[in-house]
Amino acid sequence: MDIHEYQAKEILARFGVPVPRGGLAYSPEQAGYRARELGGSAWVVKAQIHSGGRGAAGGVKLCRSEAEVQEFAATLFGRQLVTKQTDANGKGVYRLWVEGASDIKQELYLGFVLDRKSERIMIVASAHGGMEIEDLAENDPNSLRRMTIDPAVGLSEFQARELAFQLGLKGGQIAQMVNILKACYRAYRDLDAMMVEINPLVITGAGDLVALDAKMSFDTNALFRRPEIAELRDRSQEDPRESTAGDHGLAYVGLDGDIGCIINGAGLAMATMDMIKLAGGEPANFLDIGGGASPERVVRAFRTVLADRNVSVILVNIFAGINRCDWVAQGVVLAYRELGLTLPVVVRLAGTNVEEGRRIIDASGLPLITADTLEDAARKAVATRQKLAA
Ligand code: GDP
Ligand code: MN
Repeated sequence: MDIHEYQAKEILARFGVPVPRGGLAYSPEQAGYRARELGGSAWVVKAQIHSGGRGAAGGVKLCRSEAEVQEFAATLFGRQLVTKQTDANGKGVYRLWVEGASDIKQELYLGFVLDRKSERIMIVASAHGGMEIEDLAENDPNSLRRMTIDPAVGLSEFQARELAFQLGLKGGQIAQMVNILKACYRAYRDLDAMMVEINPLVITGAGDLVALDAKMSFDTNALFRRPEIAELRDRSQEDPRESTAGDHGLAYVGLDGDIGCIINGAGLAMATMDMIKLAGGEPANFLDIGGGASPERVVRAFRTVLADRNVSVILVNIFAGINRCDWVAQGVVLAYRELGLTLPVVVRLAGTNVEEGRRIIDASGLPLITADTLEDAARKAVATRQKLAA
């Protein structure tokens, strides 16, 4: 789960990371008030969306008067901001962060991620941070410093100092960097984070280190024991298809194709998507209905898949172990009746109660296309979609 920049800054500040003073605004007027409260003569107004790359997309601006703050804020509110990291729809801007402007001498990059190879938290850092960090990672990967942390020992003082030296920091900056590294590590570990990123971490004109941007994401499976983090969820930043599916106990990931998938088990769902691609089609989604799916849950799965307007064919692929083919078949028939389904549906059933499942499908009199194997089902789905498109 992702959170906003201002939320990440608040958390990191609690652990000891220095951040600029700022305030949240839900309207242009409020943005103006925040600037006045903060005082000074320059402010940075920043769109709060769950995405990086806001600077390059026009979502961050240095403003030199209260009127300019309010004007820029007015152009941002309600806008869908499209960045390099979002899809073509972008993310809606409903909150702004107004911050006293910082005097930047140098921009560094600092990230904490989970390195699956070493099974450890890894620090990635660079003396050349800011908006071009992705280019740097691509063109000059050796300039990125990496360091893994032994979970039994934690981040040791000497490791942190070594990294500070590698980044070319001097004098008092070294102790500041050690504090920042330790604070980020503690926040990461204590809050079940998956990622902490500060880009840019700047050296100010006065020579101090300050986090100008912050990003954190959290392990969704650990949210049950982190209610204070779960509370930070912002549904306005999520794909509505995925949020609604999650509410219904379905694991759904929206994709770009037009063959809607209703499948049990993540592994079978992945295999089915591969098979669709192999047959020359494109899946519209990943969807795992889980084990022991009732007819009602199958109907909810149909509703979720149909919410995507790109879907032209639905493929139901069930290999029932814990599930029951007769329940799934009942669900398919129920979906036709309740949702007024008009799209072609390919059904492949195997496993527990398959005979009863097939009987229900045959007796329904509905124009269902049945298939015997996964391969057969994928081919039929792609063929049906091509016939429709022709
Ligand atoms: P991102 O593009 O979504 O990662 O947003 P950032 O918060 O990193 O802001 C983008 C860029 O705006 C930064 O790399 C900075 O160069 C610039 N910026 C952010 N805050 C300030 C500030 O207080 N003063 C100045 N001069 N520039 C800033
Ligand atoms: Mn940034």
